[in-house]
Amino acid sequence: MATLLDGKALAARIREDVARDVADLGDLGLATVLVGDDPASHIYINSKHKAATEAGMAPQDIRLPAETAEEDLLARIAQLNGDDAVDGILVQLPLPAHVDEARVIRAITPMKDVDGLHPFNAGELFLDRPTLAPATPSGVLELLTEYKVPLSGARAVVIGRSALVGKPVAMMLLRQNATVTMCHSRTQDLARHTLDADVLVAAVGVPAIVTADMVKQGAAVVDVGINRTESGVVGDVEPDAAERAAFISPVPGGVGPMTIAMLLRNTVKAARYRRGHLAFPGT
Ligand code: NAP
Repeated sequence: MATLLDGKALAARIREDVARDVADLGDLGLATVLVGDDPASHIYINSKHKAATEAGMAPQDIRLPAETAEEDLLARIAQLNGDDAVDGILVQLPLPAHVDEARVIRAITPMKDVDGLHPFNAGELFLDRPTLAPATPSGVLELLTEYKVPLSGARAVVIGRSALVGKPVAMMLLRQNATVTMCHSRTQDLARHTLDADVLVAAVGVPAIVTADMVKQGAAVVDVGINRTESGVVGDVEPDAAERAAFISPVPGGVGPMTIAMLLRNTVKAARYRRGHLAFPGT
């Protein structure tokens, strides 16, 4: 049976470190903006606030109605950009259909972009000079590193190519000298790729799209998927894959808690950039 990549335990340790950093830095503010009433988004924002408060941060919880005009949202972001009490800004996605998501993300000042989705920060990661990198992919890499999964020279396969998870995780694996293959909805014969993977990251959003027989014996499998089904929350990987894998992340309790921990860590990093403890490129 595979060793579980215990994200819950590792996240708890990272959150303790973050709390110590927050105490050292003094006041530290994380502002979140939620537009509309998507139930999953409310759950995510609530857990981010709880974690930020537990780490000693001062969270600002901005909730706007679904019909909020794009210009009004941009005005709120401009206000947060200029607010000295705010170190990090997170706009919960998805935004309602009438709002141009890319325009809103571009409006966040890059130094406060704790989600790492602003083209400046995404570009710096692409160019191998990471600044504030997205939390979920950072959590995946942190888990693999914690369990000493060899990455240099390994064959890594990432299923999913979103800007939030798939693409940045592929860039991070490449940075660690893995040989990376990216799969997506048009990939033909997915199993042909996954069976070759020493490291397999599934970030799709389809329950059990990775079946046990698609996993290479001895692989490290990171399941990013969060799928709400009648039998509860499940990942993208069939649980039986644990019989073939050497390492596997559970759902829940794997990548989910890591995402929150890495968001908090990013907020500390953003605070250090703003205070001049770290140099932010171009400033
Ligand atoms: P997304 O934007 O919907 O992207 C899904 C990706 O999966 C797309 O690139 C898509 O390909 C690909 N895909 C869809 N069907 C496929 C198929 N049959 N075969 C191969 N690839 C397929 O989702 P996301 O934001 O990246 O999130 C992915 C999953 O991770 C979701 O379950 C989400 O809830 C979860 N998630 C978890 C956390 C966490 O903290 N644990 C954080 C973020 C997301 P195309 O590009 O071709 O459409």
